[in-house]
Amino acid sequence: SIADGAVFDVIVVGSGAGGMLAANRAHDLGLSVLLVEKSDRFGGTSAVSGGAIWVPCNDDLGGLDDRAKALAYLRACTMGRVPDEKLAAYVDNAMPMVRYSKGQVGLGFKAVMEYPDYYPDREGALPGGRTMDPDAVDGGDLGDDYWRLREPYALMRLFGRISLTVKEARAITTKKPGWPLVLMKLIGAYATDFRWRLKTKRDRRLSMGNALAGGLLRGLVRRGVPRVINARLLRLTRDGERVTGAVISRDGKDMTIAARRGVILAAGGFERNAEMRKDHLPQPTSDTWSVTPYPNNTGDAIRAGRELGAALDFMDLAWWAPSMRLPSRDTPNTETRVGMFMERGWPGSLIVNPAGRRFANEAMSYNDFGYAMIAEHQKTGAGLSCWMVFDATFRKNYVVGGIMPGMMQPDRSLPPEWFDSVIYRAGSIAELAGKIGVPAPALAESVARMNGFARTGKDTDFGRGDNVYDRYFGDRFVKPNPCLGPIEKAPFYAVRVDLGDIGTKGGLKTDARARVLDEAGEPIAGLYAIGNCSASVMAAAYPGAGATLGPAMTFGFIAVNDIAGAR
Ligand code: FAD
Repeated sequence: SIADGAVFDVIVVGSGAGGMLAANRAHDLGLSVLLVEKSDRFGGTSAVSGGAIWVPCNDDLGGLDDRAKALAYLRACTMGRVPDEKLAAYVDNAMPMVRYSKGQVGLGFKAVMEYPDYYPDREGALPGGRTMDPDAVDGGDLGDDYWRLREPYALMRLFGRISLTVKEARAITTKKPGWPLVLMKLIGAYATDFRWRLKTKRDRRLSMGNALAGGLLRGLVRRGVPRVINARLLRLTRDGERVTGAVISRDGKDMTIAARRGVILAAGGFERNAEMRKDHLPQPTSDTWSVTPYPNNTGDAIRAGRELGAALDFMDLAWWAPSMRLPSRDTPNTETRVGMFMERGWPGSLIVNPAGRRFANEAMSYNDFGYAMIAEHQKTGAGLSCWMVFDATFRKNYVVGGIMPGMMQPDRSLPPEWFDSVIYRAGSIAELAGKIGVPAPALAESVARMNGFARTGKDTDFGRGDNVYDRYFGDRFVKPNPCLGPIEKAPFYAVRVDLGDIGTKGGLKTDARARVLDEAGEPIAGLYAIGNCSASVMAAAYPGAGATLGPAMTFGFIAVNDIAGAR
C-alpha cells in the first residue's frame, strides 16, 4: 500500500508493458520507484494482446537488417511526420531494451522469421524477422500477483482456456506439418498440471501478451518494487517549471506522492473515452468498437499532461483493427469485441461497403484496412461499417472474429439468436443482400467478380494476395492465389465489420528522450510519456507486428535511462 506524502525517485503511471519495463529498469538503475495502476489488474491492453514487439536490427536477424535499412523503412512509413532523431532513438534502443529484458528481467524474445513487415513494397522493408514473440512464462513464479495479472481473452486461448504462443496458434490454424502433435502436447500439458488444476481452470503457462505482462510483473515481484492496483492518477503536481509528483486516488482517498526525479506516464490512450473519441477521431465512432479492455484507457494521462501545457499530436489516429461484436454466452446482455486480424486474407470471402461494392484489398494490414474504411465512407458517404461475406466452404475452414471454423463449431452449436443478428445466413446471395440491407445486384456483381479473380489468381481491382504480407495470412493449400477463393457454395454468410481499434495513438508530444514537450517545443522538466498516451513514433503507420508494444517498451527504457543519466 502507499501513504499520502510518500516520496520516490520515479512514479510510473500505468502497468502496460511499457510501464512495467520502465519500473524494472528504474529499480535496476538504483532508483526508488512506485508503479500505480488504476484498474484492479496489472497488465492493461498489453496483457491481452498478441505480445509481439517490432525490433529492427534484432540479434536473431544477423546480417539481414541494418540501421540504414531500418531507418529508411521507418522514414518511408512515417512520411516526414516524425523527426529523424526520434526514429533513430527507436532503432538504436529497441534491441538493447530486448537484451536488458532477457538478461536482467528474465523475459526473452524470439524473432518470427516468416512474419513480414506490413508495407512490403516500401524501401527498407523486410520479408520477415523484425517481429519478436515473448517466451512463455510460468505464472506460478508470480506468487499472489498471478491473480492480479489481467487474464487473456478467452478467444485467444484454446477452448477458451489453454494458452498458446503465436507460433503454436499459427501451426494449428495453418495446419503446418506436425500440428496435431502441437495440439496434443498443449492439451496434455494443461490436463496433467494436476496441482494447478486443483486451484484454477486458468492456465499456469502464460503466453502472448500474458507472457509479456506476466514476465515483466514477475520482474517487479522479484525486485520487490512497490506496485498498487486500484490507484488512479488524478493530476500531476508541479513546483515552478518542474513536475514534482502526482495526486493518486485510492480507496476513495486522494494522496499526493512525490517523485524526486520524474513521472513516467504510461497510462494508455483514450479509446475508452466516448467524449474524446467524438472530439478527435474520424466520425462516426464508438468506444464499444474498441477491442481493448473496458474501461481502463480513458485518456487520463493525456488530460493531466495537457493541464500542464503539454502539446498534443496525432489525436485523430488510432491503431485501427476492424472488429465484430460477439455476445457473451455466459453473461446475458453483454458482448465482447473481436478484432479481425487474419480472416480478411483467407480465400473465399470479400468485404463490401453498404452499397455492396468492394473498396480495398481486404488482406492488407488491419490498420490500413481501417484507413480504407474511413476513406471509403468519406468518399461515398455510404456508411462506415461494412460487411464481410463468405460461403459455406469458408465457414467450414476458417475462424471469423471469434466464431470457430464450422468443422470445430458448426452452425447448430451456435446460439440460434446469433443468426441474422451477429452472423447472417441465407440460401442465396440475393437473399443475403436483403437480410443485410445492401443492393442485391451490386453484391451479386462483386461476388461474381471475385469468383473470376479466384480462377485466374489475379485480383485486378485491388491486388489481394499479390504481396508477401497478404500471403502470410493466406491459405497455402489454395491455388493459384492463397488469398483468393470463390464464394459459391450455399449457405452464404455475412458479418458486420466496424471500425474497431486496439488503442488510440495520439497523445502527449515527446522528444527522442521520451520527455513531454510543451507548445513551444520545450521539455516539461520531470515529465515523460510512453505508449499510447504519447504521440506515436510511428505517426499514422503500422510498420509491422509489434509496432505498438515495441515503442512503448523501448521509450520506457529510454525514459528511465534519461532520468538516471545512463545512456
Ligand atoms: P496499456 O497496456 O493499456 O496500459 C495502460 C494501463 O494504464 C492500463 O492498465 C490502464 O488501466 C492504466 N491506466 C489508465 N489510466 C490510468 C490512471 N489514471 N492511473 C493509473 N493507471 C491508469 N500491439 C503490439 O505491438 N503487438 C501485438 O501483438 C498486439 N496485439 C494486440 C492484440 C489485441 C487483441 C489487442 C487488443 C491489442 C494488441 N496490440 C498489440 C496493441 C497493444 O496491446 C496496445 O497498443 C498496447 O498494449 C498499449 O500499451 P500502453 O502501455 O500504452 O497501454
